[in-house]
Amino acid sequence: MIGVAVLGSTGSVGESTLDVLARHPDRFRLVAIAANTNAAKLAQQVLAWRPAYAALADERAARELRELLGAAAHTRVLAGGAALEEIAQAAEVQCVMAAIVGAAGLRSTLAAARAGKRLLLANKEALVMAGPLLIAEVKRSGATLLPIDSEHNAIFQCLPPGVIPGVAPAGLKRVLLTASGGPFRDTPGEALAAVTPEAALAHPNWVMGRKISVDSATLMNKGLEFIEACLLFGLTPAQVQVLVHPQSIVHSLVEYLDGSVLAQLSAPDMRTPIAHALAWPERISSGVEFLDLLKVGRLEFRAPDTARFPCLALAQAAARAGGLDPVVLNAANEVAVQAFLERRLNFPGIATVIEAVVQRSTGGAIGGLDDVLAADAEGRVLARERIDGITRSAAVRGAHA
Ligand code: NDP
Repeated sequence: MIGVAVLGSTGSVGESTLDVLARHPDRFRLVAIAANTNAAKLAQQVLAWRPAYAALADERAARELRELLGAAAHTRVLAGGAALEEIAQAAEVQCVMAAIVGAAGLRSTLAAARAGKRLLLANKEALVMAGPLLIAEVKRSGATLLPIDSEHNAIFQCLPPGVIPGVAPAGLKRVLLTASGGPFRDTPGEALAAVTPEAALAHPNWVMGRKISVDSATLMNKGLEFIEACLLFGLTPAQVQVLVHPQSIVHSLVEYLDGSVLAQLSAPDMRTPIAHALAWPERISSGVEFLDLLKVGRLEFRAPDTARFPCLALAQAAARAGGLDPVVLNAANEVAVQAFLERRLNFPGIATVIEAVVQRSTGGAIGGLDDVLAADAEGRVLARERIDGITRSAAVRGAHA
């Protein structure tokens, strides 16, 4: 029995993970679950699964969870960010699903790597921020790092056995990273200023959390994945090509020096990469519908349009610059996406803010976690200042109209 901790269990990837685990009670034991504020959903999960630990990063929500559970003595309720790190390192846990969204997942993801766990990495922001530190921890502790992002999981499946994190396998020419193109794939550039958060959240192929859905609409998700691919597989930015593939059936491809191109295909459902990583190197059922290529009919590929979706180009530039640039990019993106969801910023404004923040930031090399945290804080402050500036100008224009 493999003891599993699901960090971010109330989210989209977290719930898909519980769905796969429920299909294999003979193989996995859910030891711990964790989230931020959603006490009601975590309480339901505790009652259904009876894990040893349940943690909420938000202390008030943790108190609410204790009240909801009453005398559910089988589960220890923990509170605060440090509790998530504790869970990630617990002796009863062999496998950690890192599915917290954003920079909030960084410390617990690093803790799981440091403790030598099998680390199922959905929290791409942690890798984008601290890739070299995370990979160094994995190598030092002997942890197993398995990508959950469907694209990186696909690439991993197309690589020869025995790949080392951060080291490109011999004979690899490049990887082709596929992107659905998001809900505004065919929207004219001039119409993007008027798109709403609701439209951005309505992804054509995937059901996902709010932040990643907006990232998919701006193509920043592909930008973060571009950085992720370079770090995970030891590739130069020139070795990663992004292809828009509207059907989301081919999850990515690997091209070798002999001209062979290997691809992984499946229905667009996160339970496939989750089941793959949970059981690797074995295979288990995931509950995902089997692929009917006759029904799919066509597989199309086209180049991304970075004029309409500048976030992709900004992320590619950050990948080339390296150091702290991806940290600042990620921080500015998190703040800008939140402002867009709160209708304080329009859709093109997300890229405008990120570009301004990356240009104004101090930059530099990653010496350690403190540098990462400082660059993250700087990116957030600069992004808030820029958004306030945009909001003030809009208010002045409104007053003169
Ligand atoms: P969701 O928004 O659906 O869920 C986010 C989870 O993170 C929730 O459990 C939430 O808890 C928790 N969380 C948020 N903030 C904190 C915090 N400060 N401390 C502790 N927990 C926190 O996100 P997704 O499941 O969509 O995405 C999770 C990660 O996986 C992201 O990094 C995303 O990029 C990546 N990913 C997602 C895919 C998808 O299909 N959804 C595909 C590939 C990658 P609460 O509910 O209490 O707020």
